This record gives sequence, C-alpha cells and structure tokens, in this order.
Amino acid sequence: MSSTVQRTLSILKPDVTQRNITGAINAMIEGAGFKIVAQRRTQLTRDHAAKFYDVHKERPFFRDLCAIMSAGPVVVQVLERDNAVHLYRELMGATDPKNADAGTIRHAHGKSIDENSVHGSDSLENAKKEIAFFFQDSDIIS
Ligand code: ATP
Ligand code: MG
Repeated sequence: MSSTVQRTLSILKPDVTQRNITGAINAMIEGAGFKIVAQRRTQLTRDHAAKFYDVHKERPFFRDLCAIMSAGPVVVQVLERDNAVHLYRELMGATDPKNADAGTIRHAHGKSIDENSVHGSDSLENAKKEIAFFFQDSDIIS
C-alpha cells in the first residue's frame, strides 16, 4: 500500500442479504473506486454484535441495534482505496436514509434509521480495530 491508501471495514447489514441486493451494493462500492480486498458472509450472534458495537452500549437503541445486526446474515468486507475511511462514509450517506443525499447507498437502499443497509468505520483507528475483529491479515488480498 502507498501512504495514502487506506482500508476500512464495511458491513452489509441483514436488510441487504434479506433483499438479495448484496451485488447491487457491491456494484456501487466498486463503481466508486473501492477495491473489495476481503469479504465473508457470516451470521453474527447478539454477543458478537454487542462486542462490535460496544461504543454504543449506553445508547437507548443499543438492544435494538444488536437484535437487528444478528437478525440474519451479514457480509463483512474490507475496502481499500485512497482516503477510504472518509470516502466510504460519504458513499454510505447519512445514518437516517431520509437525510441521505442522492447517489449514496443509504439513499438508494436504506429502509429506516435502524435498517440502513451498511456500516462503515468512522476513523482510521477504528477501521484497524474493526478489520481485526473480523479478519486476519492473511484474509486480505490487495
Ligand atoms: P454505522 O456505525 O452502522 O456505520 P453510523 O456511523 O452512521 O452507522 P452510528 O451513530 O454509529 O451511525 O450508529 C450505529 C447504528 O445504530 C446506525 O447505523 C443505526 O443502524 C443505529 N442507530 C443510530 N442512531 C439510531 C437511532 N436514533 N435510532 C435507532 N437506531 C439508530
Ligand atoms: Mg458508526
């Protein structure tokens, strides 16, 4: 990787696998210039979800969030490009799909604030932690 290339952790949430739009979202991701350098379909338990979203444990929606994230399969993936963390947050759009700009994933596919189709790391530091939560270095092929 050159110095400006970053990796970020993306999750396609259960509302995506349930509607068979994994490919449609991956087309948006690749179309925006991200390389999908690791990808796995998996089923989170509530405990996994709770551990992953630990920073939100005091928030009122935490229980619902853990239930929704473990309600069906997810696709966890590592995305690579220059400035990946910030640019993937831009491609995802606002947390509430009602407020997401045209052209974003959540505008195109998000159902509601809690079924908003995608997760993306919110800082480079968290991206490193979140990637390590799901992947070993040897799983990631640039
Ligand atoms: P994510 O972390 O999933 O990428 P985000 O960074 O846009 O989303 P956060 O504030 O980190 O938003 O919230 C994590 C997730 O919790 C959101 O994606 C959403 O599914 C859920 N969430 C956030 N705020 C609310 C809320 N007010 N009511 C219900 N669910 C919420
Ligand atoms: Mg977040």
